[in-house]
Amino acid sequence: MELLDNQTHGGGDDMIGPHPVDFSRRDLMTMGPAIAAAQVLGMSQGLGEEAKATARTRKIALEEHFTTPELGKKFVAKPTKSEKLFADIDRRLIDFEQLRLETMDKAGIDLAVLSVTTPGVQGEKDTKTAIRLTRDANDLLAREVQKRPRRYAGFAHLPTQDASAAAAELERAVQQLGFKGALINGQTNGHYLDEDMYLPLWERVQDLDVPVYLHPGELPDHPAMFAGHPELDGPIWGWTADTGAHALRLVFAGTFKRFPKLKIILGHMGETLPYLLWRFDSRWQLELGEDLPRDALPSAIIKRHFVITTSGVCDPNPLAGAIAALGEDSVMFSVDYPYEDTQTAAAFIESAPISEAVRAKVCHGTAERILRL
Ligand code: MN
Repeated sequence: MELLDNQTHGGGDDMIGPHPVDFSRRDLMTMGPAIAAAQVLGMSQGLGEEAKATARTRKIALEEHFTTPELGKKFVAKPTKSEKLFADIDRRLIDFEQLRLETMDKAGIDLAVLSVTTPGVQGEKDTKTAIRLTRDANDLLAREVQKRPRRYAGFAHLPTQDASAAAAELERAVQQLGFKGALINGQTNGHYLDEDMYLPLWERVQDLDVPVYLHPGELPDHPAMFAGHPELDGPIWGWTADTGAHALRLVFAGTFKRFPKLKIILGHMGETLPYLLWRFDSRWQLELGEDLPRDALPSAIIKRHFVITTSGVCDPNPLAGAIAALGEDSVMFSVDYPYEDTQTAAAFIESAPISEAVRAKVCHGTAERILRL
């Protein structure tokens, strides 16, 4: 408990933001070890003993995961060597009644938009099985949302093995189950969403006018650049590289020219894209050997068609960069439950050095607009 004691004695007071969230020592003691460990780390970076005020900006979180009993057997990534940490993640993924709500209440999260955790059926080879599993997962989620429509909403899980089946399931999920869009865990059997085979899906997405959250999934292969470094072949870097590339494939494939109404959500502070807009424009024009009109630049396409969330990046510097790059209407709060600590994420966004008007947009306003909540 060394970190905790340091914290209790006032380390990091200079970093107290204007909107600290209350943590008590007792709370830390009673939380599970995984959460307590993450919590202590989070606190040691940001909040001091005097951080007692309870900030309560309305908060909607969009990258919050669950699994079903059947999907849980085979389709849940394990981003830790620690059995203890994974056991905590595992029990939280299948819970809708207790831990999830307690954690949301404690952090002041009003609404969580839930999605099947990675890889889900994006990791399934067989199309028929994928169709059945997605229907079951969406039906299960719909029942949980129906029990608590003020606390939970849903993103559809889609059988991306077959674009027409995915389109049909999205329509069912949106029109019959009331879901707010879809979340797709990366590539499926080596196929990325810019490929022609997915045109029927994008057509339906545009017709339904709902966002698609492009979330990391399993990499289709294990490139030489990660050889001997399994730590790079996961969320530390590989997932970011893959998801960023996936997003850029859509940009450069002309998907948004064909479907000008599409909105894609990226997590993890935009998977590095906001940081690189200038370079995308500069190098793309060099490659083409011509100057592009402003609205045809990669940066313009990204700004028009992408919104991002803060999931898994509780750091005010990239937040400021993302807001500067994409605009204050394109960045939304999220946690990435149960892989990230909810209290740390909430404390981060409540204390981030942004105006109250921007905080309100980030915490709930933009999500309400994009998801029509
Ligand atoms: Mn996630």
